[in-house]
Amino acid sequence: MARTPVIAGNWKMHLTRRKASGLARAVAEAQGEAEGRRCVLFPAFVHLEHVRRKIRGTTVLLGAQNCHEEKEGAFTGEVSVPMLKDMGVQVVLVGHSERRHVFGESDERIGRKLQAVLRARLQGMLCVGETLEEREAGRTFEVLERQLRVLRGAVRKPEQAALLSIAYEPVWAIGTGRTATPETAQEAHAELRRLLGDILGAEAAASTPLLYGGSVKPGNAAELLARPDVDGLLVGGASLSPGTFLPILDAAPAAARAAESHG
Ligand code: PEP
Repeated sequence: MARTPVIAGNWKMHLTRRKASGLARAVAEAQGEAEGRRCVLFPAFVHLEHVRRKIRGTTVLLGAQNCHEEKEGAFTGEVSVPMLKDMGVQVVLVGHSERRHVFGESDERIGRKLQAVLRARLQGMLCVGETLEEREAGRTFEVLERQLRVLRGAVRKPEQAALLSIAYEPVWAIGTGRTATPETAQEAHAELRRLLGDILGAEAAASTPLLYGGSVKPGNAAELLARPDVDGLLVGGASLSPGTFLPILDAAPAAARAAESHG
């Protein structure tokens, strides 16, 4: 079993249609049909179709930044998983810290969203991470344990576990310019893998990609990726231009690493 490195760009509420299309084209050209690393783009909902067209024929995956947990209904302004699937979305981000802390999403709600994504056989990328206050109080592992607990309800079958990835994004590092050191990221990732083993079993724990996110830049991507349990990067600000995102994409090792030696 091997873990393929994953480089993901979370465009948040940025870019116009023209800029989103141009950026998607540049990423598509850089990634091409490469199989040794995965690349995922998370544009705003309104740009999904434009990005989908630009990445067609490449191995870049189309991602959505959020979803609603119900299939359909009177939920003005929301977008369901079947709608995303119908648009060609392959990966859905769930529980991003901005959803948790700006929009007040609870672990319970995030669990229902993840369940909806996995039931639809889409890939789910669950974001977890502690606030600065929680880290300073020595509660990081406790927070990660609580945030991962949603997997008990959301992942019902081994084939659903295979659709899961986890992004460790310490809240104090997102958009702040303050990156976790590679040692801090590795320490949290090792704990996440241990917790995954408890919840989903050793095989799923060894094969689930664990991404780090929080002020990733071209200058720190390679050293983060060099850590044994850092399998990928979720990039916000630096994913908004080819000049910063493509060097991060290139920092991903071309060959998948063996999970056995680190699991
Ligand atoms: C993010 O929003 O997922 C993120 C990691 O942002 P940034 O890279 O800008 O810190």
